[in-house]
Amino acid sequence: MTATPRGQLFVISAPSGAGKTSLIKALRERRPELALSVSHTTRPRRDGEVNGEHYHFVDISQFEVMLAQEAFVEHAKVFDNYYGTSKAAISEELERGRDLILEIDWQGAAQVKKLFPEAIFIFILPPSSAELEKRLRNRASDDDEVIARRLAEARREMSECHWYDYLVINDAFEQALDELDALFTAAGLETDRQRERHPELIADLLGEVD
Ligand code: GDP
Ligand code: ADP
Ligand code: 5GP
Repeated sequence: MTATPRGQLFVISAPSGAGKTSLIKALRERRPELALSVSHTTRPRRDGEVNGEHYHFVDISQFEVMLAQEAFVEHAKVFDNYYGTSKAAISEELERGRDLILEIDWQGAAQVKKLFPEAIFIFILPPSSAELEKRLRNRASDDDEVIARRLAEARREMSECHWYDYLVINDAFEQALDELDALFTAAGLETDRQRERHPELIADLLGEVD
């Protein structure tokens, strides 16, 4: 007999353009059971982004109402816009036993670490500064001023990578994807989770069955 343990929480951060959105999308194609928290943001919607799927796009006054209602687990100001993870976005998935990814900046990650110290913190780095700039430009979804701002902020974001549990360098995409995937496999094999999943096996092996 196996039991379903409560879902695990994964926090993934990276400087803008490092490839976290692309990697997480590919990871979820391999692991369709993995849930991704949909953040609220005051940033304007980009072409191709769907409200409620990529983000819940709200204006500042709606965001402030949610803040006053204490609806967020964490929130942060990134590039002049507000971003936040709602309590609703995470509790339901974890209680249903689904593993859940939060794709959030380091300020939000630090808040989550205080609330959920057992969460797994992963930081994605680009292979070089030049490549990071190239990817931001290639994405072509932001104007020059926004790109310059994102590059300036990248170093600040990367300076926080040292306290994360794992660093994945996104050079060759498939290799980075395999490495990220391996972290999810390893997390699922943590001793406490395996004990929750296989209580009867462990009892049997220890001679504790009546
Ligand atoms: P991109 O990830 O660079 O394509 O740009 P986004 O606009 O999607 O994200 C901007 C920043 O906000 C990134 O650093 C995200 O990690 C961060 N972010 C997104 N959602 C959240 C959230 O719910 N909470 C926090 N704290 N940060 C978030
Ligand atoms: P983020 O969500 O971290 O801002 P994206 O996933 O939007 O980053 O990736 C930024 C750009 O870099 C996108 O155009 C994406 O297709 C490209 N990209 C992502 N990973 C790689 C990689 N390993 N090699 C080359 N280009 C990449
Ligand atoms: P973008 O505007 O390019 O979608 O995201 C910019 C940054 O905001 C990314 O680093 C992303 O991780 C972060 N971000 C997105 N949503 C949230 C959120 O809900 N909380 C926090 N703290 N950061 C977020």
